[in-house]
Order: sequence, then C-alpha cells, then structure tokens
Amino acid sequence: MGTLPAVRATRTRGVEPPVSTREKHPKYVYDFTEGNKDLKDLLGGKGANLAEMTNLGLPVPPGFTITTEACRVYLDSGAEPPALRDEVSAHLAELEQRMGRKLGQSDDPLLVSVRSGAKFSMPGMMDTVLNIGLSDDSVAGLAAQAGGDDRFAWDSYRRLVQMFGKTVLGVDGDLFEEALEAAKRAKGADSDLGLDAADLRGLVEEFKAIVAKEAGREFPQEPREQMDLAVRAVFDSWNTDRARLYRRQERIPGDLGTAVNIVAMVFGNLGPDSGTGVAFTRDPATGAQGVYGDYLQNAQGEDVVAGIRNTVPLADLERIDKTSYDRLLAIMETLETHYKDLCDIEFTIERGQLWMLQTRVGKRTAAAAFQIATQLVDQGLIDEAEALRRVTGAQLAQLMFPRFDDAATARGSVRRIGWGIAASPGAAVGKAVFDSYTAVKWSRSGEKVILIRRETNPDDLSGMIAAEGILTSRGGKTSHAAVVARGMGKTCVCGAEELEVDTKRRCLTAPGGLVLEEGDLISIDGSTGKVYLGEVPVVPSPVVEYFEGRMHAGAEEAGELVRAVHRIMAYADRVRRLRVRANADNAEDAARARRFGAQGIGLCRTEHMFLGERRELVERLILADTDGEREDALKALLPLQRADFVELFEAMDGLPVTVRLLDPPLHEFLPDITELSVRVALAEARKDANENDLRLLQAVHKLHEQNPMLGLRGVRLGLVVPGLFAMQVRAIAEAAAQRIAAGGDPRPEIMVPLVGTVQELEIVRDEADAIVAEVREATGADLDLSIGTMIELPRAALTAGQIAEAAEFFSFGTNDLTQTVWGFSRDDVEASFFTAYLEKGIFGVSPFETIDADGVGALVRSAAEAGRATRPDLKLGVCGEHGGDPESVHFFHRAGLDYVSCSPFRIPVARLEAARAAAR
Ligand code: PEP
Ligand code: MG
Repeated sequence: MGTLPAVRATRTRGVEPPVSTREKHPKYVYDFTEGNKDLKDLLGGKGANLAEMTNLGLPVPPGFTITTEACRVYLDSGAEPPALRDEVSAHLAELEQRMGRKLGQSDDPLLVSVRSGAKFSMPGMMDTVLNIGLSDDSVAGLAAQAGGDDRFAWDSYRRLVQMFGKTVLGVDGDLFEEALEAAKRAKGADSDLGLDAADLRGLVEEFKAIVAKEAGREFPQEPREQMDLAVRAVFDSWNTDRARLYRRQERIPGDLGTAVNIVAMVFGNLGPDSGTGVAFTRDPATGAQGVYGDYLQNAQGEDVVAGIRNTVPLADLERIDKTSYDRLLAIMETLETHYKDLCDIEFTIERGQLWMLQTRVGKRTAAAAFQIATQLVDQGLIDEAEALRRVTGAQLAQLMFPRFDDAATARGSVRRIGWGIAASPGAAVGKAVFDSYTAVKWSRSGEKVILIRRETNPDDLSGMIAAEGILTSRGGKTSHAAVVARGMGKTCVCGAEELEVDTKRRCLTAPGGLVLEEGDLISIDGSTGKVYLGEVPVVPSPVVEYFEGRMHAGAEEAGELVRAVHRIMAYADRVRRLRVRANADNAEDAARARRFGAQGIGLCRTEHMFLGERRELVERLILADTDGEREDALKALLPLQRADFVELFEAMDGLPVTVRLLDPPLHEFLPDITELSVRVALAEARKDANENDLRLLQAVHKLHEQNPMLGLRGVRLGLVVPGLFAMQVRAIAEAAAQRIAAGGDPRPEIMVPLVGTVQELEIVRDEADAIVAEVREATGADLDLSIGTMIELPRAALTAGQIAEAAEFFSFGTNDLTQTVWGFSRDDVEASFFTAYLEKGIFGVSPFETIDADGVGALVRSAAEAGRATRPDLKLGVCGEHGGDPESVHFFHRAGLDYVSCSPFRIPVARLEAARAAAR
C-alpha cells in the first residue's frame, strides 16, 4: 500500500489508433502510458485524461483502458470481441508485474477498480465497481497488507459485494442499504465508521446471502471472473434507461459506447490519514480562482459523489494533511496551465500519499463560462477565438433569464426557510414535490414544480428534467444533484441541512417547526443557496439589462459577468460572417431587436397586422362580390398598412426590412365554421337570419379546406384575391417614400411566400414593379426596393435555379420546408408522436427545433447553390425558427447563407453562435 510505482511514459499524441499487425483487429486495450487526452473517442474522457496525467508525471495509479470500440462490438454483437480476453490478460499481467502482486492473490492481493468512462461525461449514469479481486480467500491478505487492519479489509469486502451485487448482478441496492442500516442500528452507530471488523464481517455474510437469494448465484470468488463480469456490466450500463434519457437530454449520440478503465486500487478508507475528495481549479459557479472542493476523511470516492456523508471544504485539508494539500494545489496549477481551462479533479489520499483518480475540463455555470473565458484571455492562456469556443449560445440564453428581486428578499417581505449550497444558478419558483414521478406528472399538466429530495440519484433524472429547480438537504457542490443540475442548466440548491426532508410523508420541516407540504409554493435561489417560502418576485437578468442598453458594461454596478459578456460579444461581432436579423412585425419588437444587435428585419409577418379590429376589413375583402366592394375594403386597409410600415422602417432606419406579403390560409381570418353554422341555424330557427352571416357562411363553406396549410395561402392567395398583394406593395412603397421625405433611410425588401414555381413569382413581381414605379413617379422618391421569395416548398428548392431568375433574394422558411419535406403538420405532430420518435431514437431532437441537416438541410444547400449559379449576388437568409437555434446557425454558416433571422430575444444567441461557427 502507498507504494505504487511512479510511471513515466512515452507519448503517442496524435497517433492513429494502431492496428495490431499480427492479428487483423484493432487494438482494444491501452495502457495509461499509451494514451493521451486527444484520444477521447477511443479511450473515453476518463481514460484519455488518466493517460494525459500519467504522461505529465502526475501520481496516477497504474492501469489500462478497454476502448469504446470494444464496447461497440459488444453492444452490436452481444459478445465481447474474441481478441479482447487475451489483450486484457497481457495488460493485467503487466500491471501485476509492475505492482508486484497478482489480482486477488490470497496473501497479498492486487485489487482494481473497474470504471466506466464515455467520451462525454455522464455523471453517475454508468457503473463503476471498486475493490475487484477481493474474496473470502484474499480478505486476510488485504488486512495484512494494510498493517493488520481487519476492519479496513472487511469494509472493502462488504463494499465490493454490495457494489458488485447491485451493479453487476442487478440486485436491488436498497436491500444492502437496509442491512447496513440495521447493522448500524444494532450497534447504535450513526455512520458506517461506527461498525468494527466483526460487524463488517457479519455484513459481508449477510450481503453474500442477499446476492445468492436475489441473483440466484453465489458471489463469484474467482478474481478474473469478477473483473470480466464487471467489465461487461459497464458495457451494459451504456444502454440503461437512465443513460439513454441522459444522452437524449444532453444530445449525446447513442452509438458511441463507453470505455472501461481498470485501475490499481488506492484506498481513502485506511484511517484518518486517508480520504477522498473532489477539487476544482476555480469556482465552477463564478470562475473565481481559489480553493474549491470537498474532502471526506477516511472514505472512498463514491461516498463523496453520493453525498451520503457530509464533506468538509477542501480548504480544511490544509489543516488535516498539509503536505498532500500543498501537493494537490501544485498539481491543480499544473493541470490548469496544461489544459488551459478549469479542471475538476477526483483524488484520494492513501495514508498521506496523494493519488489522482480523474481530471477533466470541468462543467461550469453559464456565468462562470463567460468569466473564465475572459480571465484566461487576460492570463494569456487562450486567445479570443478560443474564448468564443469556451462559451455557448445556450449558456448565454440561460444568463438572460430573470433572477430573484434582491429588494424583496432584503426587505424581508419573503420568508427564508433555509440556506444551502448554491449549486447551479437561477431563480426557480414552483410547487414542492418530493418524488420524480409526481414532478413529471404535475409538470405534464402545466404546473411548475421544485423537486425536493434528501439527495438525488440517477433514478431521479426524469423528475430533475421536469422540475424548474432541485433542492436537496444533503450533499455538497459535487453531489449528484449539483453536478447533473449544472450540466442541465437547471437551478439547484443542495445540502440545505437545516431542512428536514421526509419523502415518505411528502413534506419538509424547516427550523422552528414550519412544515411545507407537497403542493406548497417554494422559491429557490441557485446563485445564493437561499430557500424561501412562497413565491419570490423575480427581476430581469443583468445581461438583459445590458443588452437593452439600460446597464453599461463600464458602469460600476455592471459586475464581472456583464463585462465578460460585453467582451465576448465584441469578439463575436468582429469574427462572425453571418449577419443576424430579427423576425419582428411591430416597432417595439424592432427597436428591441436593434438594441440586441439585429442588423435588420428578416421577416415581418404582415398577417400579424390584420388581427383585432382589422380582421373585419379582411373579412369584407374576402366577401366582396363586386369590384367596388373589394376596392373599398382595400382602400380601408391601405392607410393602416402604410402606417405600420412607416413605424417599422423608422425603427430600422438604415437597415433592411423584409416584408412578407400575406401568407396564412384565408380561413384564419374567417369565423370558425362550426360556430358560424350554429349561429346561422339558431338565427334561422328564430326567423331572424342575418344577411351578412349567411354570406359569410357561404364563403366559409366555399373556402373550407381539409389541409389548409397545403391550400389557398401564400402566393396563391395573392394570385386569386385581386388587389390584395397590390395593396400591400403600395403600402410598402408609399411608406418608404414617406420616410425618405422625412429624411429617413428605409430599406424595404418585398418577400413573396410559398412560391412553388417561378411563374408565380414573375406575375407578382411584374405587378409589384409597376406599382413601385407608379409610387416613384407620384412621389418623386428615389425608391430602391428589392423583391425576393421564401423557399418553403420542396419544389421551390428543387427549381431554385429558375426561381432565382425572378428573385433578388431567397429566405429559407425552414418551418414550412420542414413540414413539407417530412410531410407532417407543424401544428399537430409535435404533441402526437414526437415523444415516441424521440424515445425510439428516430429523432435526436425535433426537426422543428434543430435543422434536419441530412434532409431539409440538403435542400437548403442545393437551393443556395443553384440560386447563386443563376444570380451570383443572390442574397440568402433563413427566417424559420431554426435561425435562432445554435446548432442550426452553425449549419447555415457552413451552407454559406448571408444571414439568419430570429425572434428578438434570441439575437444575442445567434450573434454568438454565428461567431463560434466562424471561429471553429
Ligand atoms: C417558415 O415557414 O419558416 C416561416 C418563417 O414562415 P411561417 O413560420 O410564418 O410560416
Ligand atoms: Mg412559412
């Protein structure tokens, strides 16, 4: 013990995974000395980083990694690749030789841990088994190794039977926990430390009996069998329900598989001079440099993550074991300088000897991500392009959420009932629920809930996803609840110890005896750790205040976060190629969009201007029997439309404004067919028929469609309702002329929706050109109006080369294009079968949210190419919802579009992602 040999290694950085020359199969096992941090695809995150640390000369217990490729073979074929066994044997023999002991050797056993480790970290989702190699035979040998410490040996053995029973043999873990609790009760001990060797030996017998009964087989005594079964269990854990759910949530591909690390055991449970901990090189909540982490004396690593015993702050380690503390700090600095980023670390101290069990670039809160990125630029560790890669649009979106009103909390008008650890920031208000099932059920019926648990475990994942926030009464910043919540960007307060959580009775008792029942409102502040009774009012985020121009980055109250966001956005705007416009149809939205950085309007949906009282005017237009009636209706609409456009052009003065001519199916402007039929029938029964209603009903019947989204809408409407598009074009041209006369600089672009063939566009275009010429003539204004089309139909995309003859720009309407390419209704299907499709893995994400690059995206690419082949200066944009979706923005950048257009609130996200796409 404590004398693991130091390892020096030769590097194989950047080398392709070698293929064995003798046998025709890939190499399935890598010693830690053979890998490096860039081999995450093959060795998983944990294996790659263990190799990297080994190569840096840091104290890593020796071991080897079975590749993800071996796992994939197993998952595909149901059996380990035949060559794996021999390769593992060779590496194990090497490890045994280095350690001077054999796996499970009875008088002096080598023990190993078998740890999962996928490419992307999936905290707590997959399995790990410690102390492999222990058996009835070798437990005494372990005690001798530990200087005659029987208690330690039996504690290690009971942990093995428990972990192995649960994760490898599928025995219900509660059975072991209950037996452990009973043993503690019998002894009057309040933690497992109160049990002595004899108690633990008794527990081992009990645990083995549980295994035999529940698993229908004895606990395996043969060390290699233990190891092989544990490896297989880790492979299998890739496909557990909770792992699949996590991957879906985090958008991790389902076919990567996990690597398996076999590592010589070091023990944190060898007495008070041993222990285990987790450390961060900076505060993962703010990025501040300092000593952050938790330490647990006389314990094994799993105890910290599970949050079952309370840890002490890492800074206390200085008092407990100064030598290890200083060494750890030095290693943390080495790692941070090497990885050029915040790292998190798991370590164990075995009798005063420090061992590194894991490191990785650490998860962090959104605020910390921005702050750390700028801090590292200032430290000269990374450049601006790298800073952009270190933050994401999703993180920026998170920072734009409101937070609790400090004034309300300071005034004491809300009652604070607890104060835990600020584990994942945000302000969450909801009804208290005490189990995942209720969290999911209530949230499905539209309730906002806060999931309250003593501690969470991977089985709580669905409830955590459903909840607004998570509150636990036990566990530190690295407990399961904290790590998973941070990963999801969900508000979390953990370790609020003064709150007594009773999940059976579904209530929480605060100091002073106040009881909060299921369904009561509770507010949790993940930025301060405070927990309040009832609903605390929320205030806007400082980042939004900054984007709104109400807070200046230079101002004192702005704080480090706003300054970091300001700097990153400035880099972003310098490097991005894509321009960002807004989908906005009123002056207020346009003004906000402009404050948020919009470079114009990419979509003004004019149908939004025909709501309310104006709807009746459209109704009159549709019902018009004679030219005169129609002209009257249009005449009434014209000044209203013109005024709308004047406002919009003013708000976006000097920037392009794409106005889309009327698009939606006519029935959207008409009364509901059933309601109107009933009204008319009732009136007829009363002999009180209304002439207008009768005409309306006739028209509604005439215009009724089975599939209105595929019916009389878009350009088709413009072609069959005389004067409609003409009125809109005139309003646009006259508004522009009016703005020019007022000294403005309007840049209108007229966009025709739902075009399927160039002929449609040509007809509208000819008419529009004539009207613009007329207005030019009448007003003397120097009008410059471009005319283009949306590409929303497969036929439009397929004939884009022809359509570009008549279009000065294309704007991809990816909402309709997704609907028409897939042949499913954007209004109906998300609720009806998308959940099933997501569960079956047919979709990783809804194609209405992220562009379907292979299908819809392929059409966008080819249409863009064909359009530009016809008209090299054709302007290309996108105005479907995808324009504000981070992954889709990257796609549009690669497809060579000129701009994306999205709702005003998503503009900063699109600016940032456009830059990240350019900085890749
Ligand atoms: C589209 O189809 O992508 C689009 C922007 O138009 P709308 O959503 O208004 O149909
Ligand atoms: Mg559309």
